[in-house]
Amino acid sequence: MSRLNSVIRRLQAQRDCLNAAAEMIKDQDGIVLEVGLGNGRTFDHLREIMPDREIYVFDRQIAAHPKCIPDDDHLFLGDIFETLPMAAERFKGKVALVHSDVGTGDEDLNAKIAAFIGQTLPTALMTGAIVASDQKIDVPNTIAEPLPEGVPKDRYFFRRYQ
Ligand code: SAM
Repeated sequence: MSRLNSVIRRLQAQRDCLNAAAEMIKDQDGIVLEVGLGNGRTFDHLREIMPDREIYVFDRQIAAHPKCIPDDDHLFLGDIFETLPMAAERFKGKVALVHSDVGTGDEDLNAKIAAFIGQTLPTALMTGAIVASDQKIDVPNTIAEPLPEGVPKDRYFFRRYQ
């Protein structure tokens, strides 16, 4: 497959997963956490498909398209090893959806980040909350949910908090 087709497939799968995750929480109130602003693509999509939700965004730096930067009140700027525990305490039990897209090229670091996110999130999650992630994250007290049709196994991961 050409690299162009590969990128297109990856992004289509990501969009399909975000759309599916939004659908899965449609009957629940609750806020959304976007972990990994990057250039703001997925943040922009989340706010487009969930215009009435509060979305809080995490990154250690701002490198997003100027139109895809949240206001200061919705931005946790800094290392998630510091900001995510603060947010979990602040939003105790109020989070309906987490989208985590912080994968790097470093597998060991990815595993460390995934373990940290997994142990930090439960405080923030409401019953029925969805954690959608690019890396496998073991979140206590969650079960796996199926991916949308056509999204290859292990491309994305869905967990639902019990
Ligand atoms: N979802 C984004 C998008 O669609 O544009 C892409 C996110 S990008 C793949 C990953 C982001 O995670 C980077 O912007 C990076 O700065 C951030 N990141 C990685 N490790 C982090 C950490 N420990 N703390 C805060 N941000 C981190």
